[in-house]
Amino acid sequence: MNHIFEGLTSVIDGDGIKALKTPCYVIDEKRLQQNAEVLSSMMSHTGCKILLAQKAFSNYDFYPLLSRCLSGTEASGLYEARLGKEEMPEGEVHVFCAAYRDDEFGELLKYADHIVFNSIHQLAKFGSLAKQQGKSIGLRINPECSTQEGHEIYDPCAKGSRLGVTRDVWDKEMTPDLLDMLDGIHFHTLCEQNSDALEATLKAVEEKFGDILPSMKWINMGGGHHITKADYDVARLEKLLIYARDKWNVQVYLEPGEAVALNAGYLLTRILDIVENNGMKIAILDSSAACHMPDVIEMPYTPPLMNAASDDSKPYRYRLAGPTCLSGDVTGDYSFDSELKIGDMLIFGDMAIYTTCKNNTFNGMPLPDIFRLGKDGSFEKLTDFGYGDFKGRLGS
Ligand SMILES: *Cc1c(COP(=O)(O)O)cnc(C)c1O
Repeated sequence: MNHIFEGLTSVIDGDGIKALKTPCYVIDEKRLQQNAEVLSSMMSHTGCKILLAQKAFSNYDFYPLLSRCLSGTEASGLYEARLGKEEMPEGEVHVFCAAYRDDEFGELLKYADHIVFNSIHQLAKFGSLAKQQGKSIGLRINPECSTQEGHEIYDPCAKGSRLGVTRDVWDKEMTPDLLDMLDGIHFHTLCEQNSDALEATLKAVEEKFGDILPSMKWINMGGGHHITKADYDVARLEKLLIYARDKWNVQVYLEPGEAVALNAGYLLTRILDIVENNGMKIAILDSSAACHMPDVIEMPYTPPLMNAASDDSKPYRYRLAGPTCLSGDVTGDYSFDSELKIGDMLIFGDMAIYTTCKNNTFNGMPLPDIFRLGKDGSFEKLTDFGYGDFKGRLGS
């Protein structure tokens, strides 16, 4: 069995899993804890602080578990900041938003400890108010160092990016008063990358902003570090974190989302029908890529599937598709050891991240219920959804 599904070994033949109504997400508490322990040991080796980027994973029933290992939460705006403050109150709350709103900023100050601005204009507009209330103030820089190819949608250093202040703009707009207000520098440029990409980025940061860093209290290196993936070079990351800490005498922060909950969840689905088109067999599932695994289409990628290959290496081939009207609602083409049957349960892996917090009800599709797979092998329903969740977003 693929290591992604290791956490299911002891429960896969039990009655508990067979009784689950599909589609549903199952969050694997043990895997989540293992990830958090990897991150926690990096914190103790390097003195860095690691925050959960909630946009990737915000199933707050697990925040007590995560808060035992991590330093707090990172938010993309008001609601995530509030969630972090409410559900992980013992941790720090950091927020970055491309542009803050006048009518929300006051409330945001109730929740956030660190506020990171995306432009010098926003720093000038909101900085002193935040400072007066004792907040730590940061500015996001853009080191203009692209380390990923073919994924422009996930590359904050792509040409025309709105994210972060380039050195060019910094030199035009920064004033001594504003610089004086800054406590830290933030950059976020990676996506699912290894520490070689951070090394290249840190070099660019040092070249472009090396003169600023010694006067900062902290540096936040964002997310996109694939730290809990098997082939990740943790030793090199730790070297880089220690280098930055000692070179500029700063507190280093990381705010991974994906790495916290990597491979810590599954999407369980059943086959509703099997159709055929020009010799290709297509299984229609009760889960939808478009609604329940949006990154499959947006990224795009083919998610891991238990007991199946995502190529032609096994004898029985099927396309797995969703029940919606979207022609492209296809999760992927897979091959199996035996024929599939209507009613069979299939299990997608790595489904804790960018799913439960990103799904939608397109086509009136129900949202999948969410279960906890406890360390003792039990399934506990955390929340469920119905017609009201669909209708309530649409009118009075
Ligand atoms: C998306 C994002 C993260 C988390 O990214 P992952 O790829 O999930 O690790 C962290 N910080 C910022 C500013 C982000 O936009």
